[in-house]
Amino acid sequence: MARDQIGEIKEKIDIVALISSYVSLTKAGRHYKGLCPFHSEKTPSFIVSAELQIFKCFGCGESGDVFSFLEKYEGMEFYEALKFLAEKAGVKLERREAGIVSDKEKVYKINELASKFYQFLLLNHPVGKKALAYLTEKREINEKSLKTFMVGFAPQGRVLSEFLIKRKKLDVSDIEKTGLLISGRSGFFDRFGGRVIFPINDLRGNFIGLSGRILPEYDNGRMGKYINSPETIAYHKSSSLYGVNITKNDIRKAKCAIVTEGELDLISLWQRGITNVVAIKGSALTVEQGKILARMGNEVILALDSDWAGNEAAMRGIKAITETGVDIKVARFSKYKDPDEAARGDIAYFKRSLTKAYGVWDFVIGLAFESTEFQSGSGKSKLSRKIVPILSEISDKIVQDHYVRKVSEKLGVSEESVFEQIENYEKSKTVKSIENTTKKEVEEMRDILERRLLRIYINHDPKLILTGDIRELFKKPLHIQIIGEIEGYLKKNKKFEIMPFSRNLPTELFEGFSNIILTASAEKESLKDSKSIVLEIVKLELRDLQKLISKLEKTDDEKVKSEALEKYALLTKKYSALDLG
Ligand SMILES: [Zn+2]
Repeated sequence: MARDQIGEIKEKIDIVALISSYVSLTKAGRHYKGLCPFHSEKTPSFIVSAELQIFKCFGCGESGDVFSFLEKYEGMEFYEALKFLAEKAGVKLERREAGIVSDKEKVYKINELASKFYQFLLLNHPVGKKALAYLTEKREINEKSLKTFMVGFAPQGRVLSEFLIKRKKLDVSDIEKTGLLISGRSGFFDRFGGRVIFPINDLRGNFIGLSGRILPEYDNGRMGKYINSPETIAYHKSSSLYGVNITKNDIRKAKCAIVTEGELDLISLWQRGITNVVAIKGSALTVEQGKILARMGNEVILALDSDWAGNEAAMRGIKAITETGVDIKVARFSKYKDPDEAARGDIAYFKRSLTKAYGVWDFVIGLAFESTEFQSGSGKSKLSRKIVPILSEISDKIVQDHYVRKVSEKLGVSEESVFEQIENYEKSKTVKSIENTTKKEVEEMRDILERRLLRIYINHDPKLILTGDIRELFKKPLHIQIIGEIEGYLKKNKKFEIMPFSRNLPTELFEGFSNIILTASAEKESLKDSKSIVLEIVKLELRDLQKLISKLEKTDDEKVKSEALEKYALLTKKYSALDLG
């Protein structure tokens, strides 16, 4: 990979200008601040640094450079972001970089060609007549919807293979990258046959893959009702959202995404005026999909069959969304089996089910109550085993309190006993790691203190770090390495400046360095704070040594013991000297 080209692009693109075209930023001290585009918030914790050319959110932890911003915000792959920014910066990519880009673009192009071909067969060719009748009569999909979503039909036989290889004279090796054909003993077969075809696009409308629903007359029960393109360089099922290229603006406008399972559910709703909708192709919302949705609005309404609630993977996706601050709700339309049926049966009823959607925890807890008899003692304990793990998943303590109250009322037990159950459950889950917790906590504390100290000196007087006593305080390898770099820099330059310093840092140090420099609290820190931090670090070391000595008292190894005592005495001396100074 041409690292220098990436560096060149990064130097030419100003991250503040780039991000400003998506997020409104204001200057705050050395950095720029704004409302985070990756989670929902009311006070800005999203910081962009012109010096370091990176962004970081202190609310949700998203961070990165110009490339990762586009990857995360626009859903671009790295090479797409590279191409996009190279054009913006006027950098001509070397052939190797361009080659990788075009590989993926070839897949998009061939998928698009196939989609258009399949749509032609559906709308204009006798071979698609039955499929068209199925879609328009049985599923009541109108022509506008069919065209907007570019629905098509794949006949049985080697129809697409012939078209792409013989008519379009495409390279077989390129077609293979799409997964549209399967190679067999006697040549290539079409992956999709006897199926209605739904092209799958990404946010920007690239044709990343295809999905096919079997036409009822070919359904012998032995093949999957739905099949998709296999995982390719362009298609990753877990992060794709069907329909999003068409519906994204309506989702952003409504700040709310309605999530359905299948393509036909989505089209049915869209056709009836509910246009802020995506389909996840199955009942398990993945963490990746959840994050994309969280970026587009602050509300997600699930319009799924209710079996997702028992699905562990789906619950992980739900949890991932709730942690981004997005409000996630569940629509219940129990009169009908799926959103398509509900929308066709009674659109007003379906719309009501959306406005009356339940909070996700209400729904999941309600479902547990509905499916369990809980009047008897054994019933209560059975229900508790179901509900306690759900309650412990709720990370917001205020929300958790609310549900604990509800559950205890319904069960006729005290809130305390429910809390106790949650605590026991969480304890049993963490019992193994608890032994190391205190040591781990001390380590974390030390890391935080060293980082703060390093940041204060870098921002105010980096030369001070290099003096003996101070330098010795740093024990974390990252910090020691950074100090080494500062020393090297100050040998060559009189004045310390963050921008040129950070540009010349080795990549593996840059991330650590920027994490130290970029904090929400840096504005308020001054050189005066360094003294109390130094004291805290020394105290931590003393505490560690004291523990060691009390352990050593049980052993007979005099040499180890005296060494520890000596170190203790030394530190105490240092500590009192610092305290007095
Ligand atoms: Zn954030």
